[in-house]
Amino acid sequence: MKNNHQAPISDLFKNDKPLLSVEFFPPKSEEAVDSLIETARRINVVKPDFASVTYGAGGSTRSRSADVSRRMKDEIGLNIMPHFTCVGATREELGEILDEFYAEGYRNIMTLRGDPPKGEENFVVTEGGFAYASDLVGFINKRYPDICMGVAGYPEKHPEAASLESDIEKLKIKVDAGAAFITTQLFFDNDYFYRYVDLVRKSGIEIPIVPGIMPVLALKQIKRITELSNAHFPKNLEQRLAAVDGDKEAVRQVGVDWAHQQMADLITQGVPGIHLYAMNKAQSAIDLLSAFRKEYPSD
Ligand SMILES: Cc1cc2nc3c(=O)[nH]c(=O)nc-3n(C[C@H](O)[C@H](O)[C@H](O)COP(=O)(O)OP(=O)(O)OC[C@H]3O[C@@H](n4cnc5c(N)ncnc54)[C@H](O)[C@@H]3O)c2cc1C
Repeated sequence: MKNNHQAPISDLFKNDKPLLSVEFFPPKSEEAVDSLIETARRINVVKPDFASVTYGAGGSTRSRSADVSRRMKDEIGLNIMPHFTCVGATREELGEILDEFYAEGYRNIMTLRGDPPKGEENFVVTEGGFAYASDLVGFINKRYPDICMGVAGYPEKHPEAASLESDIEKLKIKVDAGAAFITTQLFFDNDYFYRYVDLVRKSGIEIPIVPGIMPVLALKQIKRITELSNAHFPKNLEQRLAAVDGDKEAVRQVGVDWAHQQMADLITQGVPGIHLYAMNKAQSAIDLLSAFRKEYPSD
């Protein structure tokens, strides 16, 4: 086997400093993969502790996710955590894909139910497949107990959940099935994160909860982001962005500054890491993460 097996991310959390992770998504076209690899190479100056690559269940997206993960790992040396979802596959097929991840040396997987495929509104359980991320967590844990799993958490509740409390009850099922850490959906107001952590801890969950941060880089993103994520958009941020509408660089700077302040506050409160939704953009990620790296150098 070409690759060394990865150390479990759960071990990295035992170090006494916050972990830095960056998320990439596979581009829509094959041609854009080279440019994403270049972006990841640039971001690697800040030495993230690991990087994750999102998963789309369709054939070409899936193979592009695998290709992007492999290239980032082999060509750049990034510590990659692939994402994996239940969408569109039977247990048997999920098992085969999992075997491929394992054979490639991955020992960390972000384990999810997944979003409905493009054009579909609701998640539909594949016959012979899984309905919830917790089912996939249990399945992976049984097949490969040495795989370390991250799962998703939602400070402003998952859009389909009846309440935050019931969503956290379901989160507990994922954790009890074998998850090692939680990475949250993006949010723009840290108070939602702190309230969430309080409730999660009260439910008896003790594993690390890593906040997910995404800088707003363009005004046209906002509507889509807030729809997809359920995230409350602070009036104050909206006003600051509106004041520089039309000036792309100024908008980007407001978004980066806001994310920077969120991160600084979270670090002060002792979070176990920061997960950056980097939007496949190098400069904003470098702007945001280099200050962090100065304070917490990589080993
Ligand atoms: C960090 C992060 C990374 C992501 N990466 C990807 C990706 O790569 N690809 C992708 O397609 N999507 C990704 N997503 C989006 C995610 O797939 C969607 O938010 C999806 O709708 C839910 O996935 P989940 O794993 O949280 O599901 P689940 O934990 O299964 O929860 C889904 C819903 O079902 C409810 N629920 C859970 N268990 C039960 C139960 N036993 N009984 C009844 N109700 C239950 C929950 O309350 C919730 O409302 C990501 C999200 C995050 C936060």
